[in-house]
Amino acid sequence: MKNNMVKKVVIAGGGTAGWVAAAALSKQLGKLIEVVLVESEQIGTVGVGEATIPPMRVFHSLLGIDEQEFMRATKAVFKLGISFKNWGQIGDEYIHPFGTTGQGSFLADFQHFWLHGKSKGINAEFGEYSFEIQAAKANKFATSKKSSINFAYHLDATRYAQFLRKFSENLGAKRIEGKIQQVQQHPDGDIKALVLESGEVVDGDLFIDCTGFVGLLIDKTLKTPYEDWSHWLPCNSAVPVQTESVEPAKPYVTCTAHHAGWQWHIPLQHRVGNGNVFCSDFMTDDQAIQHLLNNVQGKVLTEPRVIKYTTGRRKLFWNRNCVALGLSGGFVEPLESTSIYMFMNGIVRLMKMFPFSGVTQSLADEYNRQSIAELENIRDFIILHYHATSREDSEFWRYCKNMSVPDSLTHRMELFRETGLAFQGERELFRLESWTHVMLGQGIMPKHYHSVFKTMSDEEMVGHLTNTRNTIKNAVDKLPNHQDFVNQYCKAP
Ligand code: FAD
Repeated sequence: MKNNMVKKVVIAGGGTAGWVAAAALSKQLGKLIEVVLVESEQIGTVGVGEATIPPMRVFHSLLGIDEQEFMRATKAVFKLGISFKNWGQIGDEYIHPFGTTGQGSFLADFQHFWLHGKSKGINAEFGEYSFEIQAAKANKFATSKKSSINFAYHLDATRYAQFLRKFSENLGAKRIEGKIQQVQQHPDGDIKALVLESGEVVDGDLFIDCTGFVGLLIDKTLKTPYEDWSHWLPCNSAVPVQTESVEPAKPYVTCTAHHAGWQWHIPLQHRVGNGNVFCSDFMTDDQAIQHLLNNVQGKVLTEPRVIKYTTGRRKLFWNRNCVALGLSGGFVEPLESTSIYMFMNGIVRLMKMFPFSGVTQSLADEYNRQSIAELENIRDFIILHYHATSREDSEFWRYCKNMSVPDSLTHRMELFRETGLAFQGERELFRLESWTHVMLGQGIMPKHYHSVFKTMSDEEMVGHLTNTRNTIKNAVDKLPNHQDFVNQYCKAP
């Protein structure tokens, strides 16, 4: 007999998504529901996903996670942004930072002020008004309760899942080791139980699919369709490799574009994560591995292994009594590190809408509506990096430059190009500063800007811009070196 009340949640899969879900549910709802997670060591995890964004800190504070303990356990360092090399043109470089940039007015954001200064001959770059960019460039960092620096982390993905496993099990989550062989359904189609290779049957009321790209529940069982975004985001393969560190860890990720995709460099305390993201129409797996190995520093520690994926999303993240979190729900791109954020937000959203008295269509609809709106804004932001380029040196870049993009993105680019206006929409992760840094970095220069700053005297304007830059410079000068700060704050034994 089917019981509609949700008292037992079964999480299928123990990668980062599975353990993030288990940790949040056991901490916040553990007194009300039973949390069970099934994972298979034999299958393992995707083993990547090491760059994060600042909302992770909010998630950790919700769970009461101690930052130093977490950083020691995951051999993490700090991240202030992402450096993009060769994206707008070969030889270009800009940093997309966290935090605010400059100070605008009630009527117009800082980029208008900066553009006005530029028209008057003040040629300081936009990034000179960002504390995080200047600290990143100087390899400096410190955090304290009084500090306003905005940051995230680079972490070891395997260690992070282990850290969250311990955290969740201490709070009562139950882990079952075993390979799921079959998914049983009720006569109405809802999921009833997971049957393991050992014969054990794990039943539940609500199932969270964290089985990664395989999507064992959401796809293989419930056949939830997938919306393919390859025509906008054509990279469909990645090959990661870990290397020994050869220099102190930088507090930012580097993404270097090449003729058929791009390469990441993510420094941690004990090693560096590297990877080549590419489109298989323009680069073979062997070429991708060779390209990567030719462009890493330090001794290679792992065997290169190509991961294949299709960019896009599930048409429904919540279908029947199953919610897909992590790669089972879709994948936009590693660029801009949004995947971990999406499932952290997804589990918080689910807890806010938790179906204690039973799954209803209206709950699932609302959850899907919010998740889709958020992901589509992220998608547009990622496409911007590929599309707003002057590169024409390879077939891949010519395709990206000339492809048609979502109307929502065309509108943003046109608006910025014509007027200098950028905005953060409803349910949008990326702030207007993020849009502004990336649009400028990719070479979109506004033709006009808001006139409000023209009412300032030149002296006042120069004074304000110079003061802002000097304040940042003085603050950065006082910061310790990033690696030294990590060594005294959270160095793993
Ligand atoms: P997985 O890690 O694949 O875990 C799946 C789990 O399901 C495993 O425990 C597996 O054992 C289990 N499982 C599967 N089938 C069965 C079965 N039959 N029985 C039992 N258990 C089963 N995100 C970021 O935020 N930042 C980044 O920098 C970033 N970089 C990325 C780079 C690449 C190349 C890729 C592909 C992804 C990247 N991501 C990044 C995304 C990030 O890696 C994932 O979102 C994150 O690791 C979560 O993965 P997951 O838990 O959904 O899947």
